[in-house]
Amino acid sequence: MVERMYDVAIAGAGPAGASLALRLAREGFSVALLDAQRFPRFKPCGEFMSPEVLPMLGELGIRDELAKLGAREVRGMLLHAHGRRVHGRFVDIGMAHAPYDYGWAIRREMFDAELVRAAQRAGAELLEGHRVTSLLRDPDGGVRGVECSHGVRERRQVRARFTVGADGTRSRVATELGVRRETAWLRKVALVTRYRGVTWSDRAEVHLLENGFFAVAPVEGGDVSLNLVLNADEFERSGMPRDEALEYWLSRTPLLGERILAGTRIDPVRGTGAMAMRTTRQAFDGAALVGDASGYVDPITGEGIFFALKGAQMLAPALTTALHSGRRDAAALRSYIAGRRREIVPRAAFSLLIQRGLRHPTLVRTAFGFLAQRPRMVDTLVSLTGDYVPLRELARPSVWWRALGTREDAA
Ligand SMILES: Cc1cc2nc3c(=O)[nH]c(=O)nc-3n(C[C@H](O)[C@H](O)[C@H](O)COP(=O)(O)OP(=O)(O)OC[C@H]3O[C@@H](n4cnc5c(N)ncnc54)[C@H](O)[C@@H]3O)c2cc1C
Repeated sequence: MVERMYDVAIAGAGPAGASLALRLAREGFSVALLDAQRFPRFKPCGEFMSPEVLPMLGELGIRDELAKLGAREVRGMLLHAHGRRVHGRFVDIGMAHAPYDYGWAIRREMFDAELVRAAQRAGAELLEGHRVTSLLRDPDGGVRGVECSHGVRERRQVRARFTVGADGTRSRVATELGVRRETAWLRKVALVTRYRGVTWSDRAEVHLLENGFFAVAPVEGGDVSLNLVLNADEFERSGMPRDEALEYWLSRTPLLGERILAGTRIDPVRGTGAMAMRTTRQAFDGAALVGDASGYVDPITGEGIFFALKGAQMLAPALTTALHSGRRDAAALRSYIAGRRREIVPRAAFSLLIQRGLRHPTLVRTAFGFLAQRPRMVDTLVSLTGDYVPLRELARPSVWWRALGTREDAA
């Protein structure tokens, strides 16, 4: 069946796709927002949003609603490794002002569904249960929409002047465009669940293990969201079922395990595997990639939602200008690519650098020894993951001078 022609077809209604749909629909464009699943749907995630996400939620008009749903304020991070604990807060760094001294955490089922509803209210057409299977092409090779499966038998074509791949780390759109590359050395699995009845502070915690890490954040309703990320090869070799692996690693993480196991697990232990990938291009004739579909690093710095929303915030005006001027060539999206280079690429590189560092236990031990004596340095590190500090701020000697100083309230 041949559908009508939309201005924009977006594959994937996670934070990247739904926020882009909302922004474009507000501009008066016709938008088809397709997702393989139905909302509310589960998405494996640490469910933490950095402080810089909060102003964007205001722009998208869903901040008050999320606050009503009970989004929890997360006022910094406790990092544990090799028996040491350091605490970092979100603070001003150099000329970079923290928009809030906290981030938020809320179940992804709620957050994503709220964003999708807001996109619909703005006028985007949501096509749930539509799995994109391939791209439609013009005779000159430009992308002209998507073909998708709907239900058991039905196949549909959704034609559009621009097609956006916002379909996550396993992106079908990026694969069809031939630009998706897996990051072999970062092959990880994540086990994800939630607990109730655990005594928890208003901080997120990361506990580094020999072969991975636990990340825990308090979410709405007093529950905690827990992720265990492990090297995929070791997890597969262990042959352990997910529940068993989770309990095994909790029992080996004394500063966390006892507290968590005092509560009750309220969700199944869900798994997701081999997530890290990059793309070699993000703008094409008639198409673009955004969010995890454009490249994904690792959840340790908790920035994926920021990357998704920021990418959509930068892609929307680029598409608006291209659509108004009747252009469909990749060069028309130049401002998006420039924005990515400024806002996303350096942060993703920083996150990758942390990942590389974590592969060397001696380095981690030494770094934690140093950080334990330099709490302001921990603030600097944690603030960098808060997404409001441009990395160029690190070129200021005053930032280092301050970071190397002491802090009276070191926790
Ligand atoms: C274990 C783990 C912990 C994380 N913790 C954090 C954290 O604490 N904070 C943070 O900011 N980020 C975190 N992240 C990263 C964050 O979850 C992602 O970066 C974010 O969800 C990206 O949003 P997105 O919209 O690009 O993709 P997604 O949220 O993945 O949405 C993609 C959508 O596309 C749909 N889709 C997929 N294939 C198709 C198809 N063929 N056709 C149609 N639809 C399709 C999916 O159903 C999905 O709804 C974590 C990730 C993992 C795995």
